[in-house]
Amino acid sequence: MRMKAFGSERVILGSEIVPAIIVSDNGIVKEIFQGSGADVRAGVEGKYPGVEIQDFGKKILMSGVVDSHVHCNEPGRTHWEDFSTATQAAAAGGITTIIDMPLNSIPPTTTVRNFEEKLTCAKGNIFVDVGFWGGVVPGNSKELKPMLKAGVAGFKCFLIPSGTSEFRHVSLDDVEKALEELKSTESVLLFHAELEETISTKGLDPHQYATFLRTRPAAMESSAIMEVADLCKKSGVRCHIVHLSASEALPIVSEAKKCGAPLTAETCHHYLTFAAEEIPDSATLFKCCPPIRNRDNREKLWKALQDGTLDMINSDHSPCTADLKIDDFLQAWGGISSLQFGLPIAWTEARRRGIQVEQLAKWISRNPAKLSGFEKRKGDIAPGMDADFVVWDPEEIITVKTADILYKNKISPYEGRELFGKIHATILAGEFIFKDGKVVGKPVGKLLLREN
Ligand SMILES: [Zn+2]
Repeated sequence: MRMKAFGSERVILGSEIVPAIIVSDNGIVKEIFQGSGADVRAGVEGKYPGVEIQDFGKKILMSGVVDSHVHCNEPGRTHWEDFSTATQAAAAGGITTIIDMPLNSIPPTTTVRNFEEKLTCAKGNIFVDVGFWGGVVPGNSKELKPMLKAGVAGFKCFLIPSGTSEFRHVSLDDVEKALEELKSTESVLLFHAELEETISTKGLDPHQYATFLRTRPAAMESSAIMEVADLCKKSGVRCHIVHLSASEALPIVSEAKKCGAPLTAETCHHYLTFAAEEIPDSATLFKCCPPIRNRDNREKLWKALQDGTLDMINSDHSPCTADLKIDDFLQAWGGISSLQFGLPIAWTEARRRGIQVEQLAKWISRNPAKLSGFEKRKGDIAPGMDADFVVWDPEEIITVKTADILYKNKISPYEGRELFGKIHATILAGEFIFKDGKVVGKPVGKLLLREN
């Protein structure tokens, strides 16, 4: 691998945006030359004779996006998604690291043996780097430490049925057992935080979004998040709320953080973009759990990102085949496909609210890297870190078109939407993996095994 250099007038380093040239050696950032113009260029060429400098002009050069919530579904449900298609979509979206969720694959990642099966499937088939969450299910607490040793990034559990019979949800007793196992580790437990409530939909029209929304009230999230915050405080184990949707639960998170609990929370692109009032009848592409709520709720989520109550934005790319999105909100599969478009989706909405690109980088790159324990290598540009970058133009407009989608089932509620932010190139370990609108080269992504 040759030494490479990548320069731009707008490089995001930490929380600053500056002109710079980044030199990478063998896939790792070696040195950063801040400034622009012939002098800086000459400095790079003087110190590293023969180095080829790729100049991206005024396009933004930032750390590759890290999406720590992606369902790849391989093995077992590869007709929904597989590692090859998901990671090609990621590469096209400026994402250089994804962390795979433990469910929807058969078998789910709940034992070391199943984890090894995952690794075998991913190896040699991935276009970006991939890490793995393990799963906590009833009765597998003794598998957790061996899975950590094998390299999972941490664990996820459901407090409510997951939608697939292979991945059972846990009781609060099971959670306590899992936290006991994790106490002596640096690991993290992720929660799908909703507690079940039985709500009758008798006489209501299942084609209307309002009917579905009624079945998943904010209280289901709030009550679960209250329990998680409590367990987090008591155990001292890192806990994380995935896909927080209900703004009613935000004070619980912020209160727990104030008390010093090691609790973090994410929200997703769809909760920050869409609003219940705008979802047409029968449009089940918008169905996910917890649900997209109203406009006012959406604005509160944006505020919570800005005040630090929410730590990050992930896709929760939860794909399925088109036939499962039937014309009935109560029966259709719950899950939204959006992996490839995360950066422009988040930027379009952030820009609308006067938020800067540097701020966004923290939510879509740095903090997800930290959550999954890869912050020494991923999520920022600094000497010693992986040379993973995205080059994009924040002012250029793209339209989401089925023909451009690279994940397997080409459905998305974003279809036809105009978004700010065009991805021009994605670079993984100093090599282009996406350029001029195409995924380039072989599947050179690495399996990310966390050292536990
Ligand atoms: Zn998910």
